[in-house]
Amino acid sequence: EHIIRAENVDKVYPNLCHALKKVSLDIKRGEVVVIIGPSGSGKSTFLRTLNQLETISEGTIHIDDISLTDKKTNINKVREEVGMVFQSFNLFPHKTALGNVMLSPIKVLKKSKQEAEQEARELLKRVGLAERMNNYPSHLSGGQQQRVAIARALAMMPKIMLFDEPTSALDPEMVGEVLDVMKSLANDGMTMVVVTHEMGFAREVADRVVFMEDGELVFEESPDRFFESD
Ligand code: ADP
Ligand code: ADP
Repeated sequence: EHIIRAENVDKVYPNLCHALKKVSLDIKRGEVVVIIGPSGSGKSTFLRTLNQLETISEGTIHIDDISLTDKKTNINKVREEVGMVFQSFNLFPHKTALGNVMLSPIKVLKKSKQEAEQEARELLKRVGLAERMNNYPSHLSGGQQQRVAIARALAMMPKIMLFDEPTSALDPEMVGEVLDVMKSLANDGMTMVVVTHEMGFAREVADRVVFMEDGELVFEESPDRFFESD
């Protein structure tokens, strides 16, 4: 029933920075977990280990019962099921919103152009960009670009979505529109792991809040308990 199982995960970077120390975290299907903690505490590193953008030094990670450390595992296959959204939107500048969302389904999932386009249109509508599908990233606001990035990740039909400070690079007036899309994803039952400083989002949407410090997961709480002291 746990779609993510991380056990005693250690990460030591080549420069010997010990970024993760025995991090264990199990996440249920449909659960929304928010990770908070000071800068440099390992939040981003941990998130990246979950789709193997970062290999781990010790421990095990299972995604949907598939071990990421097993040499026989096809990591690309697992990665397809774990979508990721970054602080910087990383859209292809020479492609329209629609082109960005269609790309991976065509290249990776080998979908036909027609099918990919139809699904991309639906996804762009879902993130509120029906009127902006043919815009290039340079003609979209930061909030719109981030919503395209979310649609692009969803186009791979992931089972899990990872968000690494998805609103940190946005002007304040655009934060809400991105959080609203994330909220609706959560309501639709998506399993989500979110690194964010948006405490309102954590309080409202998270099933659990976990706190990292100096590479360790120091505690976890339900949002109600976590926020009850303020
Ligand atoms: P956070 O996301 O909480 O800010 P990070 O996971 O980015 O933390 O970083 C955790 C620690 O690992 C920090 O000390 C950081 O400097 C270090 N670190 C992150 N990425 C690398 C890297 N590619 N190479 C070496 N050290 C890194
Ligand atoms: P974040 O906390 O959002 O990951 P950082 O400023 O910590 O932002 O890291 C930005 C980038 O630099 C990341 O790709 C990270 O892996 C890399 N990085 C961070 N610390 C180090 C480091 N000590 N050595 C090499 N790369 C690093």
